[in-house]
Amino acid sequence: MARYKDAVCRKCRRIGEKLFLKGERCYTPRCAVERRRRPPGDATPRRRRPSDWALQLREKQKARFTYGVLERQFRKYFDMARGRPGVTGDNLLQVLETRLDNVVFRLSMADSRQQGRQLVNHGHFTVNGQRMDIPSYLVEPGDVIAWKRGGRNGSTPKFIRDLTDGLPKRPVPPWLRLDVGSLSGEVASLPDISEIETGIDARLVVEFYSK
Ligand code: SF4
Repeated sequence: MARYKDAVCRKCRRIGEKLFLKGERCYTPRCAVERRRRPPGDATPRRRRPSDWALQLREKQKARFTYGVLERQFRKYFDMARGRPGVTGDNLLQVLETRLDNVVFRLSMADSRQQGRQLVNHGHFTVNGQRMDIPSYLVEPGDVIAWKRGGRNGSTPKFIRDLTDGLPKRPVPPWLRLDVGSLSGEVASLPDISEIETGIDARLVVEFYSK
């Protein structure tokens, strides 16, 4: 499976915004965007006004980086969104939000989407009682996502206890229901566009692919 292996903070510096890709560090003064506002490799600040295309490309990249999706898969999501009824941009954000690694992050069971992806990849979650190790799995209303806790003696491993200590660490969006007692979450509905807080202007992404 292809994945991005370079320093993730470069993505934020390239976009010029905090994309919260690293978890806890993003909320500290050690954040690379806080320390260096310039894009990576750019010795002098740019003054020229970006073209419309540059703005559209930036927004598309921002969406890709935020959800940790490579171009080919992102394009597939766009085609999927375009094939659904309704507004394509809203559909696109809805599809991205329902990725399992994002849901784990939204349930505040991981500090970042990247960590959520790794935890899913390593088989630490079940969906409706079945082990699920595909981060791109798209959840549906009624799905129950839970930690796979079955150690040899049925106990909860220490790293899960550490990660879930003090849940929820962030507000859980209304389309998800977190059950702290059973360390699980249920998808109550598909996310409404008003419930998706990413700061992504999906209209620009649609314009980018509509050329
Ligand atoms: Fe982005 Fe987080 Fe790195 Fe800051 S610390 S640049 S928000 S990934």
